[in-house]
Amino acid sequence: MANAGVVNAPLQTFTEEETMMKTMVKKFAQERIAPLVAAMDENSEMEKSVIQGLFEQGLMGIEIDPKYGGTGASFFSSVLVIEELAKVDASVSVLCDIQNTLINTLIRKCGTEEQKATYLVKLAKDTVGSFCLSESAAGSDAFALKTRAEKKGDYYIINGSKMWISSAEYAGIFLVMANANPSIGYKGITCFIVDRDTEGLQIGKKENKMGIRASSTCPLTFENVKVPEANILGQVGQGYKYAIGMLNGGRIGIAAQMLGLAQGCFDQTIPYTKERMQFGQRIFDFQGLQHQIAQVATQLEATRLLTYNAARLAEVGRPFIKEACMAKYYAAEAPSMKGLQISS
Ligand SMILES: Cc1cc2nc3c(=O)[nH]c(=O)nc-3n(C[C@H](O)[C@H](O)[C@H](O)COP(=O)(O)OP(=O)(O)OC[C@H]3O[C@@H](n4cnc5c(N)ncnc54)[C@H](O)[C@@H]3O)c2cc1C
Repeated sequence: MANAGVVNAPLQTFTEEETMMKTMVKKFAQERIAPLVAAMDENSEMEKSVIQGLFEQGLMGIEIDPKYGGTGASFFSSVLVIEELAKVDASVSVLCDIQNTLINTLIRKCGTEEQKATYLVKLAKDTVGSFCLSESAAGSDAFALKTRAEKKGDYYIINGSKMWISSAEYAGIFLVMANANPSIGYKGITCFIVDRDTEGLQIGKKENKMGIRASSTCPLTFENVKVPEANILGQVGQGYKYAIGMLNGGRIGIAAQMLGLAQGCFDQTIPYTKERMQFGQRIFDFQGLQHQIAQVATQLEATRLLTYNAARLAEVGRPFIKEACMAKYYAAEAPSMKGLQISS
């Protein structure tokens, strides 16, 4: 129950640890990521130095226990990190978000001691993880997935394919949802830890996307991929529960991404409105523009409060699903910045 007391404090009051984390990430993002953003987006390529920097700063194992090489910080700190990164580059933020809120969390919560010692250590140190649930015919209806895992002695043989898997281009560890008992429907879905170099696993060509281009989104194919039984994460047939649980918490991370992205746009825009002269004055001084700025600033504040509230609730173990859904829904609207139309 870390930070249990904070839940009664104003939502934007941070602990010392959170303040330090926010300040450090802001500096890292400005110095090490900002100069590379345009090229990474244009080339659809994440610079290796950025990924390496995230690991060096302890940002890929934020909640991982220091005994596994992690930072040992709170979930709320992860949310602040995701927000700060998204202010500068949403692709980098996605990478960090998935690693921390999905991959690391699932292994922290469901892994055996051996799995934690093997995989959390790598994830905190130098290895990116991917979360593999969606398939071409199983997106919103994820539990209709067709990837199969057939038990053969001490092993499972995985066959099937996945679509739109974030970070797959450079990931070393894949958490793969496959059905180990299709006769009982989604209750056969099981989560497997699959290493990148496992024979039969192929990472396809990344999508040429319109946004978050530096975040790779790839198809995967599994052809008789042999995975030891010891690599089942949690219980056989519980994968659907883990996926739902992770995606519920993951919504807070996505809300933080959207919040940071919108705040980053706002922070870039306002100085321009104070430089740009029209009709003999700064456009910032026109009341029509001030109305738009006030509207967006208010939307951002509301987004921040919804997101932080959901994060604080999740952190202290209180029900948070409704609040996380609201935060993600509202935050996803924010970047459209409907109120501020300076380019038109
Ligand atoms: C950039 C990117 C990164 C991704 N990363 C990952 C990843 O790392 N791992 C992973 O597993 N997946 C990932 N995904 C996949 C993502 O989870 C799916 O795109 C998502 O689940 C939606 O599935 P779909 O694209 O098949 O859309 P569909 O399910 O085909 O939905 C299409 C439309 O129908 C609507 N719709 C569907 N069902 C209903 C319903 N019941 N009621 C009302 N409307 C409905 C949807 O809202 C949507 O507007 C990623 C996708 C993208 C675009």
